[in-house]
Formats: sequence, structure tokens, C-alpha cells
Amino acid sequence: MVSIEQLVEQLRALGVRPGGVLLVHTAFTEVRPVEGGPLGLIDALRAALGPGGTLVMPAMTDGESVFDPATTPTAGMGITAELFRRQPGVLRSTHPGGSFAAAGPLAERICAPQPLSPPHGPDSPVGRVHDLDGQVLLLGVSHSENTTLHLAEAIARVPYSVSHPCVVELDGAARTVMIAETDHCCVRFRLADEWLYARRLQDGGPVGAAYARLCRSRDIVAVAALHLARDPLIFLCPPSAACEECDLARASVPPAGARP
Ligand SMILES: [Zn+2]
Repeated sequence: MVSIEQLVEQLRALGVRPGGVLLVHTAFTEVRPVEGGPLGLIDALRAALGPGGTLVMPAMTDGESVFDPATTPTAGMGITAELFRRQPGVLRSTHPGGSFAAAGPLAERICAPQPLSPPHGPDSPVGRVHDLDGQVLLLGVSHSENTTLHLAEAIARVPYSVSHPCVVELDGAARTVMIAETDHCCVRFRLADEWLYARRLQDGGPVGAAYARLCRSRDIVAVAALHLARDPLIFLCPPSAACEECDLARASVPPAGARP
């Protein structure tokens, strides 16, 4: 059992900046056992940031019903993110499928309204964490969970885009709209691990029972941009892998002559 105090020490030792902006993707099953469970982990993250810091977590939903930031549960984001978005004083952005929750002095700015597409573009919570020179903490998860790599794809204008249905409220009525995003299986996002370590732009170490990775959002985007400039499809599994999601993304790429 790791105490909250020990977690705070580990987070600080890893390089979490007091007073900074921190976007956290985590799987609590990898971090436990922790004093206070997932709420103890949230307490530790907030304590490591201090009162001047802003904590951000994904709060994405399944998009199958009209989104209400106050009540719609997160889908597939883990227990820590679900409990965080429910805490008093935590704000939640309004994207019907790709919302984020944030607490701290910059929470309102991070959760400001955004366009529907792309969900993780420059004008989105993830984009604002980048603008604010925030850090990204992958706590017991890999870069395949790293939404900042979707931001990198949007900034690099990768040629693939897949649309998914999402329920939105228009003029008081529920309607299903198609939202375009740079979707694929995201397994090859894990390439970013060696790219960042090779440039000494990522710190790794223990937090609870988990292995944690910490980087600046801007470093993730800059390093991904270098690789995307050489190969815009680098994050898609090769056709030989027979990955259904990556094959769909690949099929969305316009023929070479038709690209702007
Ligand atoms: Zn794939």
C-alpha cells in the first residue's frame, strides 16, 4: 500500500511541476494499491500540482445519448477519470463525445467551447494544454492512450479521417451527426516512447505500482511532427497487419493527385 504522501513524492521526483497544467491518462488497476483508492490518487495528483496547478483528465463518452456534462458518465476512461469528473468544483468541457474534466485556475480556459471536429484539435482541451505548455502524464498506460498524439495528427494535417456517429442536441432535439476524427487503433502511437526517450524528452519512473511517463505536451507534438513530415501514415498499422481500424483510416486517404 502506497500512501498519498509517497505518491506526491514520486510525482514530484518524476518532474510534475507545482503550479503547472497536467493532463493525466491513467489505469488505476496498474497504480494500486494506494491509500484512499482512486480518490487518494486524485488527492495526490492535486497535491503534487498545488493550489496554483490545473489537473486535466479525459472524460469522453459513448456519444449514444444527448450529452449532459453534469451527468453523462465517461466511457472507457477508467475509474480515476470518472470519479474526478464527479468531484465538486471540477469543470467539464462540452464536446458531446470528446469532453475533458479540469480543476484549477486554468480549468475554465481549458474547458471552453470547441468545434465538434476534430475533437482533439488545436482548439480543444488537449490543444489548450499544449498552448499553456502543460505536461502529459501517462500513469500505467502507454502512448496508445495519449490524446496529445491526436493533436499532433491534427496540426500535421494527416490525410486520413474517419467519421463516427454522435448524438447532439440541435434546437432542442436529439440528432445524430457524423464527427470526423483521425481515428485508428492507436497501437503505433507507442512509437513515440522511443522517439521521446532518444531525445531525453521523457521521464519515466514508478508512481504507486505503475510505471509512469511524463513529457511536455509541446515535445510530444514537435517530435511527432518530425516523423509525420517524413511519413504521414506512420501511426497506421501496415496493410499486412490486417488491422481493421487502421485499414479504414488508410482507405479514407484521398488519391495522391486529389490531395490539396
Ligand atoms: Zn492498427
